[in-house]
Amino acid sequence: MDVCHKCGNPQIIIKRKQSGQMLCQECFIKFIQEKVLRDIRKQKLVEKGDKVLVALSGGKDSVMLLDILNNLRKRRIIDLVAVTIDEGICGYREEGVEIAAQNAELIGVKHRIVSFKDYIGHTLDEIMADTGDRIACTYCGVFRRWIFNQVAREEGATRIATGHNLDDEAQSIIMNYMEGNIQNLTRIGVKSESSYEGFTVKIKPLREIPERETALYVMARDLPVHLAGCPYAGDSFRAKIRDFLKEISQDHPTIMYSTLRGFDKIKPVLKEEFSRKSSTGVCAECGEPAADKLCKACSFRNQWKRK
Ligand SMILES: [Zn+2]
Ligand SMILES: [Zn+2]
Repeated sequence: MDVCHKCGNPQIIIKRKQSGQMLCQECFIKFIQEKVLRDIRKQKLVEKGDKVLVALSGGKDSVMLLDILNNLRKRRIIDLVAVTIDEGICGYREEGVEIAAQNAELIGVKHRIVSFKDYIGHTLDEIMADTGDRIACTYCGVFRRWIFNQVAREEGATRIATGHNLDDEAQSIIMNYMEGNIQNLTRIGVKSESSYEGFTVKIKPLREIPERETALYVMARDLPVHLAGCPYAGDSFRAKIRDFLKEISQDHPTIMYSTLRGFDKIKPVLKEEFSRKSSTGVCAECGEPAADKLCKACSFRNQWKRK
C-alpha cells in the first residue's frame, strides 16, 4: 500500500515524479514551504529588514508566493506589500483583482491595485485594438515590469517578488534560446540585480517548484485563486513551448530541472560575452532602467504615439 514517506499516512496526495516520493497533504505543505524558504536562504533572496513587493495577480503562483513569504513576515524578518496590476482586460482581470484582494486581506497585508490606464494611459484592450503587429504578452510584460518598478519605489520596497515557477523559467530559457535572443537570456535568473539607482532587485522564490506542485499547494492550503487563463495567451509561442516541455516531461520527469541547472551553469559565461553595457543605464524619457537609450516601455509608447 502507498503511504506518506514522511509520516506513514495512507492518504497521499502526490507522488513526486522527479523523486518518486509520496506525501500526504500536511507533509506536502510542509515540504514545499521548507523547500522555498531554504531556497530563499541559500540564494540570499532577501535580507532582514527588506520590504518585499509581491506581484499578486490572484493566480495560483502569486497566491502561493504571498502565503509562503508571509511566514517570514510573521517572524518579522521582512515586511510585505501586495500589488496587483489591472491591465484592463475586460471580462478577465476583474475576478483576479477581487481574488488578489481576498488573499491580502486574509493575512492582513497592505494591498494596492494599480492600473495600466493610470500608469500608461491605455488599457491592454485598447492597446491591442490599436496594434496588430505585436503579441499582447510582449507589451504586457514590458509594461508590467515598468509599473512594478515605479510602484516599488513609491512603496519603499527593496525587493520585487514574482511567482514564476519552474515551468515558466524553463519555458523562458528554451524560448529565448530558440529565438536566438541571447541578450534576453543573460537577464534570466533567480535574482536580477543592477548597480543602477532606481532599479529594484527582482526575485523568483518559486523558480524550482514545478507548476503542478503550485496548483496542488494552493488546493492543499485551500486558498482562493483565479484559475482562468488570460484570453490573450492562447496561441502564443510560449504556449507551444509549454506543451512541448510538458510532453517531454512525461518520459523525462527531470527535464525542466536539468534545463534550469544547465542554464545556470552557462549563464556567467553568457553574461560575460553578451550582456550589453549602455552608457547610462537609464531611460532618457522616464528615468527607469534601460538597456538602450530608451527603455522598452517608452519605445513602445512612442511607437503608437506616432500613429
Ligand atoms: Zn505525511
Ligand atoms: Zn522609459
